[in-house]
Amino acid sequence: MRLIYPQAKGASMRTAAEILAANGLSGLTGDWPVRSPLDGAEIARVPLTPPEAVPAAVARAQAAFAAWRAVPAPRRGELVRLLGEELRAAKAELGALVTLEAGKIVSEGLGEVQEMIDICDFAVGLSRQLYGLTIASERTGHAMRETWHPMGPCAVVTAFNFPVAVWSWNAALALVCGDPVIWKPSDKTPLTALATMRILERALARFGDAPEGLAQCLIGGAGIGAALAADPGVAIVSATGSTRMGRAVAPVVAARFGRAILELGGNNAMIVAPSADLDMAVRAIVFAAVGTAGQRCTSLRRLIVHDSIRAELVSRLKAAYASLPVGDPRAPGTLVGPLIDAAARDRMLAALAQARAEGGIVHGGEPVAGLPGAYVTPAIVEMPAQTAIVREETFAPILYVMGYTDFAEAVAMQNAVPQGLSSCIFTLNLREAEAFLGPEGSDCGIANVNIGPSGAEIGGAFGGEKETGGGRESGSDAWKAYMRRQTATVNYSAALPLAQGVRFDF
Ligand code: NAD
Repeated sequence: MRLIYPQAKGASMRTAAEILAANGLSGLTGDWPVRSPLDGAEIARVPLTPPEAVPAAVARAQAAFAAWRAVPAPRRGELVRLLGEELRAAKAELGALVTLEAGKIVSEGLGEVQEMIDICDFAVGLSRQLYGLTIASERTGHAMRETWHPMGPCAVVTAFNFPVAVWSWNAALALVCGDPVIWKPSDKTPLTALATMRILERALARFGDAPEGLAQCLIGGAGIGAALAADPGVAIVSATGSTRMGRAVAPVVAARFGRAILELGGNNAMIVAPSADLDMAVRAIVFAAVGTAGQRCTSLRRLIVHDSIRAELVSRLKAAYASLPVGDPRAPGTLVGPLIDAAARDRMLAALAQARAEGGIVHGGEPVAGLPGAYVTPAIVEMPAQTAIVREETFAPILYVMGYTDFAEAVAMQNAVPQGLSSCIFTLNLREAEAFLGPEGSDCGIANVNIGPSGAEIGGAFGGEKETGGGRESGSDAWKAYMRRQTATVNYSAALPLAQGVRFDF
């Protein structure tokens, strides 16, 4: 391990105050302390929205909906086009704030903003492609069609680890679909949310006549999210976070027949087959298991390796891990930044203790002395089997390694966890690759061949099955979750025939 200290040569020495100022966030006052994972220091205080303020926010969103749904979709797309332009202009500063507040390395902080830009581009095109269907009617002189209409206010509850990109996946689609957005960001990352709202305000000012209340941001904890989930004025609740959160939100939304889009925890695996290109596999494994300090919903957590190559792969991974620069994410060479806070580090250490008790051999996984935040060395854990701790998502850089002998056994292991987000196989064997993608293969929402499980492009629908919640966001036809479908039949004949040939003469 190479340690990168905050004073490292080349690290941006801008203060938190300077980065906040560059994002239009000077002079914030409030009760809620925001800490940077870089060193655990308080960098700002922000005002909290009390849960009692939620009904008024929903009423504003409802009023905005009444106006926005009547705006032609391509015009709605113009707002998102302007947002994309403003994000391009603000990319460097917002990326720096993501690094400061969420602890991502510089390139990943910028990558997060790029993802926001990409989804804006996608949504602008979509605003002219909210296609419905024409359907053949069984009745003479009748026409059937299926149309998509705006749905209503969309609450977007987001997690700390993608503090701004997940909002944009939802907001860019919801806005072109005609839905106002109420954002409840993680209370660990309110600053990036406030900075994003400043950027959106610039786009709204240039747009000119968007209704007041079209896009709101309520800073607060779980209570705000719970109030939004329960409010019948919120048509769609798109909630990203832990499965624990989803278990609380889903029944509340269901009880009022609201629509939920759930993007919850993952426990993502890679199968490495005997024919795999091991050079590529090692690169993919290290990025997916260690990137973002293991704090992606799609981070690689389980490695299922054929017994014939297991020893070699583990030895190559141990060598790669030993060379990883851990430390200040602002420094150019750093690849592993801090965990979000001390509680996350304690959960990682507790998981490693449990893994040892379940027969695991742990390499790495130690707190880094001498660095001020919750810095850890990433862990490789050789497990005798897929034990209880392996089936849980621990949001930290822990990679459990298990062996397999035959392909069917590997697929069964990959699927034998409660979560179903992302999965992949490294193989040069066409039969294995296609079987992994087939109906008896991976049961996840995302399945890749010769690519790691993380770092999805925005063009595909993103989400997973089982305890991951079943939601889909971002590309493909995920937009349909933000609209209501209407089937319309028009009778342009002079008769009134009934469907299925039913006679009802009187
Ligand atoms: P978290 O569940 O603690 O919090 C997520 C959000 O939910 C926060 O805004 C939080 O305030 C809110 N919340 C918590 N309890 C709530 C409740 N009872 N009612 C309403 N809102 C509530 O998650 P986190 O620690 O911020 O993020 C890490 C988790 O998020 C991991 O499990 C990760 O896999 C998951 N995640 C999933 C995706 C995905 O797309 N599937 C993406 C990013 C993160």
